[in-house]
Amino acid sequence: MKREHTAEFVIAMLEKLYPEAKCALHYDGIPERLVVSTILSAQTTDSAVNRVTPALWKKYPTMSLLALAERSDVEVLLKTIGLFRNKADFIIRAARFMADNTLPDTISGLVEIPGVGRKTANVVTGEIFGKPSITVDTHVKRLSMRLGLSVNTSPRKIEQDLKKLIPPEDQIMFCHRLITHGRNVCRARKPLCGVCSLAAVCPSTKKGNP
Ligand code: SF4
Repeated sequence: MKREHTAEFVIAMLEKLYPEAKCALHYDGIPERLVVSTILSAQTTDSAVNRVTPALWKKYPTMSLLALAERSDVEVLLKTIGLFRNKADFIIRAARFMADNTLPDTISGLVEIPGVGRKTANVVTGEIFGKPSITVDTHVKRLSMRLGLSVNTSPRKIEQDLKKLIPPEDQIMFCHRLITHGRNVCRARKPLCGVCSLAAVCPSTKKGNP
């Protein structure tokens, strides 16, 4: 099946399966907190991030306060998530930037913030500014490859491939839904191909490809 047809099927099926899919990170509607939470989510589950951020916001309710934090104090609050030392450093430096500047609404502007790469920038442009965006996290990467929507392994190239296949108006929800399907069915280990609604178009069905 051609990639375009696979993409059409996947878009329509995911919409049926997960009409209400949304960003799983909690940020209280405060855009700068989403930036921090997304930085924290690298190589860590969103639920693990959501467990540490309430205490972080309690101690540092504004970016100005987080900007002035001692790194060791922030590390204590983050110690249950991976790479917490680096992340403490990044979020303090990101908070300094955000305390002094209006949050950029473009990818090129957002990646100027310390610790912000394309993944975080795409999360923010989509979730906060409603701009078409493809967020390539671990789930989007894995499922795009398994479904044959991309043969690339680099997130940047997968993003480019998906942008060609997914209409702009569908991109934000497509990523939320693909992530949800990755968590629920097409898991990294032992994907549940036998109950997967995408199996009819999936070249990896039953193979359990990584
Ligand atoms: S058929 Fe299997 S490999 Fe393909 S999307 Fe579904 S769970 Fe993933």
